[in-house]
Amino acid sequence: NVRLLEKAKTARFFGTLTSSRHGSVNNSEINAFVSVNDNLANSARGRRVAIKDNICTKDFLTTCSSSILRTFDPGYDATLASLLKSRGWNIIGKTNCDEFGMGSLNVYSSHGPVINPWNPSERRSAGGSSGGSAAAVAAGLCEAAIGTDTGGSTRLPAAYCGIIGFKPSHGLISRWGVVSYADSLDCVGIFGKDAEIVSEVFEVLNVHDPQDPTSANSQVRERMQSQFVASKVSNMSEKSFWSTVRVGIPLEYFPHELDPSLLKSYKNVLRLLLQRGAQLVPISLPNTKYALSAYYALSSAEASSNMARYNGKLHGKLYPLLRYQIRILRVAVGEPASESSTRHRTPIDQYAANRTAGFGPEVQRRVLLGTYTLTADAFDNYFLQAMRVRSLVQQDFSSVFKMADLRESSEDNIGDSGVDFILHLSAIRSAPQLSETGQPGSEIDSYVQDVMTVPASLAGLPAASIPSGLADDDWPVGVSIVGQWGSDHLLLKACKELT
Ligand code: GLN
Repeated sequence: NVRLLEKAKTARFFGTLTSSRHGSVNNSEINAFVSVNDNLANSARGRRVAIKDNICTKDFLTTCSSSILRTFDPGYDATLASLLKSRGWNIIGKTNCDEFGMGSLNVYSSHGPVINPWNPSERRSAGGSSGGSAAAVAAGLCEAAIGTDTGGSTRLPAAYCGIIGFKPSHGLISRWGVVSYADSLDCVGIFGKDAEIVSEVFEVLNVHDPQDPTSANSQVRERMQSQFVASKVSNMSEKSFWSTVRVGIPLEYFPHELDPSLLKSYKNVLRLLLQRGAQLVPISLPNTKYALSAYYALSSAEASSNMARYNGKLHGKLYPLLRYQIRILRVAVGEPASESSTRHRTPIDQYAANRTAGFGPEVQRRVLLGTYTLTADAFDNYFLQAMRVRSLVQQDFSSVFKMADLRESSEDNIGDSGVDFILHLSAIRSAPQLSETGQPGSEIDSYVQDVMTVPASLAGLPAASIPSGLADDDWPVGVSIVGQWGSDHLLLKACKELT
C-alpha cells in the first residue's frame, strides 16, 4: 500500500509520522480530481502527474472551479503541461481548487470541498487553494502534482496533507497557460512525496519560455546554476552539507494564533539540524506583521483586474441563452414578463447577471475589495501603502540572506555573514475541520491561515513546506524553508538532506 509505505518512509525521517489509517483512499472519498483520464491513470507506463484546474490543458476542460468557466475548453496545453508530456509524464487529470486560486481551505469550489486524505472520516480540509493536487499526491493517486502558489496555495495544502510542496522563485516556471489570479505574485508550485521527485519535476519545468514575458531570462538562470555549482554542495554528504549552512530562525513567525502543539515538531527539526552540524541564527524580519494585510490588498487589486475579462458570454453560453429563451417563451404565452426576465436589457446588465451567477462569494468579495483599493479615493491609503509594505518585506529578507538577490545584483556575491535559509512553521495549525456544509467558518479565519506563507510570496522567494511530524491531534505538521531569489537548487538540496 503506497500510502502506508510513504508514511513509513516519512516516519524514518523525523520519527513521529505514523499511519493513522489502514487501507488506501480513492478519489470519491476525497474529491481531489474534477476530471480524470482513466486510461492514463491506470496505465502501467510512464509516471502520473495531476494538474490544478486553473492551468490550461488540451485534453481536459479548465474550469478554475468556477461556474463561470464550467464549460471552458482552452484547446491548448500550458507550457508546463507540454514540457511534462514531452518528458514522458502522463497527465492523468485535473484537480479541484479554490475558485481561481482564491482561498486557503479548498472550500470555495464549484466542485465542492476537498477532503484531506490523511483520515477522510474526520472530514478535515486539505488546505487550499491547490487542495486537490496536494490530496491526490498524499492519497497516492499520482507521483507528482502541479499547483499554483500566489500566497501559500502550494505550501499550506502540502503542510495539511503531510507532503512536500515547493514554490520556486517567482518567474522561473512559465505561466503561459496558467490562469492569472494576481500576476505579480502567481507562481507554479510542485507537490511530491519526496524531495527527489519534486526536484525532478522542477528540472523539467525550470526553463525560459519566450511566451511568458515574466519568465526569467537565460542569463539569470545560468548565473543561478553557476553559483550553485561554485558552492560545491551538490555532491556533499549530509553532514558536510549541513556544516556549511546557516539557518535563520525568524522571531516574528510565532504569532499568537499559532497552535503551540506544532512547536514540538518545529523544535525536532531544529534539533536535527544542530545534530547535523548546521548553525542556527536568530533573525528578525520586523515588517512581517504587515505582510498579510498588504498581501490581501495587492492580490485583490490584481484579481479585480484579472476577473474583469469574464463576462459569462464566451465560455458559459448556455446559461444566458436559457434565461433569454425563458423570457421569449413567457412573452409568447402571454405571461407578464417577470422582474427578473425584463431586468437584463443592456449587455452590461447581462454581464452583471452572468457574473453574479457565475462567480462564487469569495471571488465576488475579492473583486469588490480590489476594485475599491484601486479607486481614486482609496489608492494612496491602501494600494500604495501595501506596495510600500511589500518593498519593506523584500528588504527585510535581503538584509538577512548571505546571497544577493540574483535579479538585482550582477555580481555573484555571497557574503560571509547572513543566512542561507529561513526556517519557520508552514501553518498556524494542523488541517482545520470542515463544517457540515463544507463551508468555512469565517473569511478572516481562512485569511489568517496564510500568515506564515505570504511574506515569501510578496518577495517572490523560493519556499518549500516539508513534513515534520504530527501535532497533538495526530495530524501532519509542515515546516517551511525559504531561500533567497534564485537559490532554488540549494533549497531543494536542503529539502533532500532534511527528509
Ligand atoms: N489563500 C490565499 C488567497 O486566497 C493564497 C491563495 C493562493 O496562493 N493561490 O489569496
